[in-house]
Amino acid sequence: MSNHQASDILQAIQSIAAPKVIITTHHKPDADAMGSSLGLQLFLKNFGIASTVITPTDFASFLHWMKGSNEVVIFEGNEKKATQMAMEADFIFCLDFNHLSRINEFGEAVGNSKAIKILMDHHQFPQGFEQLTYWDDKASSTCELVHRFITESNNHSNIDKDCAACLYTGLMTDTGSFRHSNCTSNTHRIAADLMDYGIDHVAIHDLVFDSFTEDRVRFIGYALNKKLEILREYKTAIISINKDELKQFNIQTGDTEGLVNYGLGIEGIKFAILVIDRSKLVKMSFRSKGNFAANAFAMNHFNGGGHFNAAGGSSTATLEETVHQVKENLKLYSQELNA
Ligand code: 5GP
Ligand code: MN
Repeated sequence: MSNHQASDILQAIQSIAAPKVIITTHHKPDADAMGSSLGLQLFLKNFGIASTVITPTDFASFLHWMKGSNEVVIFEGNEKKATQMAMEADFIFCLDFNHLSRINEFGEAVGNSKAIKILMDHHQFPQGFEQLTYWDDKASSTCELVHRFITESNNHSNIDKDCAACLYTGLMTDTGSFRHSNCTSNTHRIAADLMDYGIDHVAIHDLVFDSFTEDRVRFIGYALNKKLEILREYKTAIISINKDELKQFNIQTGDTEGLVNYGLGIEGIKFAILVIDRSKLVKMSFRSKGNFAANAFAMNHFNGGGHFNAAGGSSTATLEETVHQVKENLKLYSQELNA
């Protein structure tokens, strides 16, 4: 798949008078999804193009500080309005996902829309639903790609402090605070560039990582103490959470983010899995160390995908049945995990 030039993409938008532009991202958007969407929106605004961000679902309250977040149209609960906007759009930017199933029912509207779809994404194995492509699975984050898009089209002067803060956040979270293997010297160069806009990186880190509710911290303690299962024979750690537990700790959107990583922090563990009974589906997060492909496991068995070391998937089976399936499937990878 070959990429389009950033300047050509912008020119295509500019060639239409008063273009209707939508930016959308995956369901339960994380900091990279929201940071890239709102960062792109702020850049486009400074460039002279108005746009609307539509998310398939709500997003974590620790991202509500991002400029423009209060004007986001949430598809869930506003289905008619969001569908109509997608149908009437001239351009739809699709950020931080590459398969229409990742935007739930909103995918039907986006898929059926006559709008030109522009993919900006860093996940492996794109579906190929878009007309214009700005994709790189080596990019640390979609925020890094948005920064590249702005820089390559010679529009660096249209970044402002609010835009920089949004983009910095996705860089920070998708690299695990600049420590995962997807963090390159270029990622640091971009972070440095964004810091030069005067953003408060200490406050951003604090808002995202150090502003948990008491419920959330107690829930983490409970999950690690009572729910963590170590399967030494597969160098794997599993945490499963049922609906009652989500209710007991008043778990809100975003509150389970990062929980999967604790398993990977145990010496000798190469694969960590979090299984949660969400309202419609059982959702799974997979994290791996080194050369074990978390996304292959997700793709082969749980209708999922993502990055090599960080992926997700889902199941329509019960929580117990899903955990059982996970364990059965692990048997197939025993050699790989013990290599
Ligand atoms: P998380 O575990 O944080 O939800 O997701 C980890 C990574 O896997 C993210 O990059 C996310 O976009 C991707 N991912 C999560 N769930 C799914 C899924 O169901 N399908 C696909 N294709 N990717 C997913
Ligand atoms: Mn991302």
